[in-house]
Amino acid sequence: MKVVFVSSEIYPFAKTGGLADIAGALPVKITKHGIRTFAFMPLYKTVDTEKFGIKPINVKLDVYLNGRSYTFEVYKLIDGVSYFFLKNDELFGRDYLYGTPEGDYPDNDVRFGAFSYAVMEFIKNEGLNPDIIHVNDWQTSLIPVLTYYKYGWHDVKTVLTIHNLAYQGIFDKYSIERLNLGWDLFHMEALEFYDKVNFLKGGIVFSTAVTTVSPTYAKEILTPEYGYGLDGLLRKYENKLFGIINGIDYDVWNPETDKHIYKNYCSFTLQNKDINKEMFLKETGLKDKSKPLFIFIGRFAKQKGIDLIIDSIDDLSKLPINLAILGSGDKGYNDFFESIKGKYENIFVKVGYDEPLSRKMYASADFLTMPSLFEPCGLNQMIAMRYGTLVVARKTGGLNDTVKDISEKDGYGIVFEKPEKHEFLNAISRAVELYKNKTTFEDLRKKVMELDFSIESTAAKYIKLYENIKYSREVKL
Ligand code: ADP
Repeated sequence: MKVVFVSSEIYPFAKTGGLADIAGALPVKITKHGIRTFAFMPLYKTVDTEKFGIKPINVKLDVYLNGRSYTFEVYKLIDGVSYFFLKNDELFGRDYLYGTPEGDYPDNDVRFGAFSYAVMEFIKNEGLNPDIIHVNDWQTSLIPVLTYYKYGWHDVKTVLTIHNLAYQGIFDKYSIERLNLGWDLFHMEALEFYDKVNFLKGGIVFSTAVTTVSPTYAKEILTPEYGYGLDGLLRKYENKLFGIINGIDYDVWNPETDKHIYKNYCSFTLQNKDINKEMFLKETGLKDKSKPLFIFIGRFAKQKGIDLIIDSIDDLSKLPINLAILGSGDKGYNDFFESIKGKYENIFVKVGYDEPLSRKMYASADFLTMPSLFEPCGLNQMIAMRYGTLVVARKTGGLNDTVKDISEKDGYGIVFEKPEKHEFLNAISRAVELYKNKTTFEDLRKKVMELDFSIESTAAKYIKLYENIKYSREVKL
């Protein structure tokens, strides 16, 4: 079987969030199962071609849209997976992937539209003949549309994975012309969305199968509350919608080998996790090792429950805990967290994206908090548990599928229902109580380290889908 896998970000080459983690790990794992995999992403300015040994291959792709032509140069890296990086500096040689902190780049339709056409041209010119084209999120959602509508490859199966329904790629209606598509696509059953063009909608309509990243989120997005205006459409296509839980790469996230943490450990040497905590407190100026250390790592976006943290910050500063916050995102949130730096003795803040620091935090913490309003899957909680850190999470999406409250049989985390301040603070207090019971706490640490959240089982489910894909609910995953 041959699979073309397309993503706007792939770890370790470029990453803004969980999409990159999955797009990094999944092609590697399916390749190990004997599937020939060709992975594509844009060559951003931020990709370190030298470090990774990414080289040009003297292939050029010309695509015509926006009333002119764009040329892409092809770069390649073979490392089990065949990676192709498509380079056009006018479109992708920018400081950020999708936009600045002030907002999205206004020509994102042309940027990712041109990239999508370029991928199609490469597949055609090189005669790749894939069985499956697997695309991810709105940035590459035009590919199933092009596959069916422009290139007429009706026997190539397309899979769209929705990592976050809140981001749909919505542009003014003349995007149809800029993208060199026909106005016959501009209707409610195809790309039109309230008189605008919606990339993700096109992907949902034209793909052979649609997946999202957890079983709970697959149900949630069928409701108006979580559907972001597409719940009706998703209900219509429910028979081709599947929830496949993401996983993490256990080689990339491993406290036994992680080079960034202070001291390596495993579930039998948990005393070394405490050394990490000690060193981290020293480095960040936090005091009193006997207090539980809570961390938050993530994008500063409404989705992540940042308002709950902000509203609770005074209360959190008065609890017998330490709290370390790492994140960046919306300007208003960045400004808030910058403004409280050094204000509270027990709260450390870093605004920015810092993977080495995030690893130290996962290794040092007692608890990770994820008060998300919605969470398609969430990887942080899986990484945390792999590092023996218990999770305090809101019961939603992938968090609901991966964190089980200690009040339930075989539970190992702390879960709260409503995204409200008193419920959040109550959950934190329950964690503080749990921490006091050393034996239970240690047992749970061991237990979460031994749970399986690896991408291996995710990959097995995708392979099963690739093999059985049809417009039918008969496929059992
Ligand atoms: P998202 O909605 O952002 O995709 P996920 O939980 O799926 O959320 O994935 C988040 C990933 O990004 C995790 O690997 C997490 O460690 C990482 N991450 C998020 N913010 C930061 C940050 N500020 N610094 C370092 N890593 C981060």
